Amino acid sequence: MRDIERHPGEMREHSLDLATPEKWGEGLLSIPEGETLELDVRLESVHEGILVSGTVDTTATGVCGRCLIDITEPVEVEFQELFAYPGDEASDYDVQDDHVDLENLVRDAIVLSLPFQPVCQPDCPGLDPNTGERLTESPGNTEQTPADPRWAALQQYTPDDGDALRAAPKTEKS
Ligand SMILES: [Zn+2]
Repeated sequence: MRDIERHPGEMREHSLDLATPEKWGEGLLSIPEGETLELDVRLESVHEGILVSGTVDTTATGVCGRCLIDITEPVEVEFQELFAYPGDEASDYDVQDDHVDLENLVRDAIVLSLPFQPVCQPDCPGLDPNTGERLTESPGNTEQTPADPRWAALQQYTPDDGDALRAAPKTEKS
């Protein structure tokens, strides 16, 4: 970065894969230690410092906030921050010596983006208040419901049986 520092207008782009040095996030979803971070970063030298922008892709793991099943979610976050030169106006991030601390920036961007109430699916029905069991399967366990005989009959048709299919009497739902 030394080559662009104090050279307004200069720009550098980097793509890098990093790994989280520790678990990021305290909520139901977090980024585990050692998870891959795919970073596309642009460093732009401006008068006040270094403007850092880019995107990071990673994967969050945790549990559904309703039914507590394990889930993983892709995370893609955009970030942009000005790293100010020391002595200039106060900012959240400073250019220190000759580098910018990308780690804090990326961590903050990711942690802020993690949902407080992640769900395994948008309509997760959660837990049965009586039994504490997951209600993810539709009410009335479908596995034990015998197959609808009308569908069973249809499954036996082959394309050659087209006439038979058309001839089949319509059955009303009883
Ligand atoms: Zn769920």
